[in-house]
Amino acid sequence: MTRRRITTRLIHTPFPKKDAHESLNFPVYDSVAFEAESAEELELAFRGEKFRHLYSRITNPTVEYFEAKIKTLTGASAVTALSSGMAAISNLLMAIGKAGDNIISSRHLFGNTLSLFEKTLKPYQLSVKYADLTDTHQVKSMVDKNTIAIFFETMTNPQLEVADIRALAAIAKEHHLILIADTTMTPPSVFDASALGVNFEVLSSTKYLSGGATSVGGLVIDYGNYDWADFVKIHDMYKLHGPQAFNMMFRKQIFRNMGACLSAHNAYLQILGLDTLDLRTERSAGNAMVVAQWLEKQSGVQQVHYPGLESSPYYSIAVAQFGDKPCSLLTFDLESKEQCFRFMNRLKVIRRSTNLQDNKTLIIHPSSTIFAEYPEERQAKMGLRKSMIRLSAGIEDVEDLIDDLGQALSSVN
Ligand code: PLP
Repeated sequence: MTRRRITTRLIHTPFPKKDAHESLNFPVYDSVAFEAESAEELELAFRGEKFRHLYSRITNPTVEYFEAKIKTLTGASAVTALSSGMAAISNLLMAIGKAGDNIISSRHLFGNTLSLFEKTLKPYQLSVKYADLTDTHQVKSMVDKNTIAIFFETMTNPQLEVADIRALAAIAKEHHLILIADTTMTPPSVFDASALGVNFEVLSSTKYLSGGATSVGGLVIDYGNYDWADFVKIHDMYKLHGPQAFNMMFRKQIFRNMGACLSAHNAYLQILGLDTLDLRTERSAGNAMVVAQWLEKQSGVQQVHYPGLESSPYYSIAVAQFGDKPCSLLTFDLESKEQCFRFMNRLKVIRRSTNLQDNKTLIIHPSSTIFAEYPEERQAKMGLRKSMIRLSAGIEDVEDLIDDLGQALSSVN
């Protein structure tokens, strides 16, 4: 994939309205409500005949500017910013799904998404069928008359598995399914979702986009490339609004009624984060590559997984879809859980924490933390091992990361 030229466009995204003081940074409108000029204007706004900001759960100027930047970055037809990545996923699925429908996905999913599928959505009879998304025959064989969507993560966490997105898009097109990609691991700076046939992108802007973990947020990005004409739940809206049907329905129903809006302050932090997105993704992914190559040479390390390494089974597809430094996450195995813990406790620069795509390099033992609620055999099916450590590379000087890993490894070997 060739490098996406995004930074100039991002930094210079025009404001939706000229600022009264010609501020260079878009102001933070930390106000719940906004006043209309007249009763008539208020009526028109409530009827949806004239757009203006009214109430910050519905729209807010600072959040609107953040959404405008994401539109500029992605070329999407509609963008909604929400309070978290999980809010983005759950709101989108509730918007498209109804009782009796099913979605095809992978068991290799972020733990809370899996829990959303298995625990939260089940009582509403929106079910999920699990397939190996790298096996297109299996995916095809699972489609039935009630299947409405395929949901996948561009790079699974922590297995770092990568499916062929064009192949999934072809299945989705053939069966008229909505293709939804969780692109948290591969943000728009490295991945052009619509070019590969994705209809909706959901992502946790808590990670890279926020500036390296400054604030929690999420995005639903609608590329406007799904034909809603025969989609039962959105059919009526389609008759009124054509290709904008989903966005109208989403903003006027699910998003408004569930109330998971992004705060103006967090939108401001994420606007600042976007300006340096490309610099930070490039630097942290570069650090991940150096660390992965170094770990591969250490005798105490049993195995290393990083999709940018030729040893990864996903190397070719990852590089084709996301570039030669595809992400900042990698995993490696030591001998045992006990050794992993001893190693982690000796680290001095690298921090023990659950987040990823932070400016700081973070390390965690997934099996005893993020996935602890799943029994051992279930974890094994998810590709988790007790000997596995996950590292999210930050933007520090890579020599300091190698020194830290080196001293911790030599003290446990
Ligand atoms: N999707 C993926 C792939 C994630 O890794 C995460 C969080 O780590 C989420 C979604 C949820 O994001 P948030 O914590 O912003 O709700």
